[in-house]
Amino acid sequence: MSHHNLEITVHECAAGQCKQRPDENNLGFGQYFTNHMFTMRWNIDKGWYDARIEPYGPFSLTPATLVFHYGQAIFEGMKAYRGTDESIYFFRPKDNFARMTRSAERICMPALQEELALEGLRTLVSLDREWVPRAAGATLYIRPVMIAVEPNVGLRAATDYLFFIIACPVGAYYPEGFRPTKIYVEDKYVRAVPGGVGEAKTAANYAASVLAQKEAKDKGFSEVLWLDGVERRNIEEVGTSNFFLVIDDELITPPLQGSILPGITRDSVLQLARSWGGKVSERLVSIDEVMAAAENGRLQECFGTGTAAVISPIGELTYKGRTVQINKGEAGPMSCRLYDELQAIQFGRQDDPFGWRVIV
Ligand SMILES: *Cc1c(COP(=O)(O)O)cnc(C)c1O
Repeated sequence: MSHHNLEITVHECAAGQCKQRPDENNLGFGQYFTNHMFTMRWNIDKGWYDARIEPYGPFSLTPATLVFHYGQAIFEGMKAYRGTDESIYFFRPKDNFARMTRSAERICMPALQEELALEGLRTLVSLDREWVPRAAGATLYIRPVMIAVEPNVGLRAATDYLFFIIACPVGAYYPEGFRPTKIYVEDKYVRAVPGGVGEAKTAANYAASVLAQKEAKDKGFSEVLWLDGVERRNIEEVGTSNFFLVIDDELITPPLQGSILPGITRDSVLQLARSWGGKVSERLVSIDEVMAAAENGRLQECFGTGTAAVISPIGELTYKGRTVQINKGEAGPMSCRLYDELQAIQFGRQDDPFGWRVIV
C-alpha cells in the first residue's frame, strides 16, 4: 500500500448549518446522517485528487452520469463504537478498504489509496465524534461508496469516479434481546453465480435481490436463504449476511469460491471459534443435508453474520413447503457466545487478542 501525498481539505459546516442530533433512543437504521461527509475524486489522468471533508449535502450530477445507467457502484459497511471510557473504535477498518479495492477491480474502478481513505474516515469521525451514540448497543454506521461519474452513456470503464463516506447513528440491533428469524429457502431466484460479481460488494447484487426479499416478506419471512446459482443445492448466504450452522458440535460455513461475499464478521467468527478449540469447517453444505440434520435432531444452530447485526440467529427454515424449527426457535449457545464476545471486543470492553480494534 503506497503512501499518499494528498492533503485533506476540511470545510466545517457553519454554526447555523449544523443539525441537531436525533434522540439516541429512537435511532432506527439509516435515517439520520452526521453533519459532514468525506469525498474525493479520481480521474484517469490525475489519479485521486480533491480529498475533502465538507458539510453533508446533495451532489449535482448530469442525467448522463454513467452510474445511473449501468450501475457502476460499490460500497462498504462498517461501524464506529463508543467505549465506556469515551474512546471511539473502528473494527478492522483496513479490511473494509482492502475489500473495497477488490470490489473496485472487479468492475474496472480504480484501486483506493487505502491509507488516504482511512485518514478521511478518521477525520470525518473525529469531526462528528459527538454523533457516535452512547446508548447501549447503538453505533455510528459508516458507509463508504464509489460511483462512476463520467457523463457518458456509452458502456465502458469510466474516466471519472467519486468516492465518498457518510455516517449515520443507528440504534441497537436487538433492543430487546435476540429474536430468531424465520427464513425462506429461495429456490426460484439466485443471488450470484461463479464468475459473476457475488464476491464484490456491488450495488447490483442488492438491486437483484430485492424481489426475492419482497416475496419472502410478503409470505411472512424475514429473509431468504440463497442457494448456489447453478444447481440450487448448496447454501451460499442468508439475505445480505454470511451463513453459519452447527451440526453435531461442528461449526460450518460455506467456503469462499467466488459467489459469496467475504464478510469481515464471517472471518472474525471463524478466527474466534478456532481460538476456542472446537471443530470449525469451511465446506460445502447442501440444503438437503441441513433439512435432514434438522429432522433427525442433529442441527443445533443456524445464524447469519454481518456488520449490522453481528450475529442473527435463525429460528426456522422453510424449504419447498417443509418447515423445520432450530433449537426450539431460540438462539443457541454458540450464537450467544459469539455475539457477546464480538460486541465486547468492538466496544472495547475486553482484550483484543486479534488486534482488530483501531482507536479513532
Ligand atoms: C456486506 C455483506 C456481508 C457481510 O459482510 P461484513 O463484512 O461481515 O459486514 C455478507 N454478505 C453480503 C452479500 C454482503 O454484502
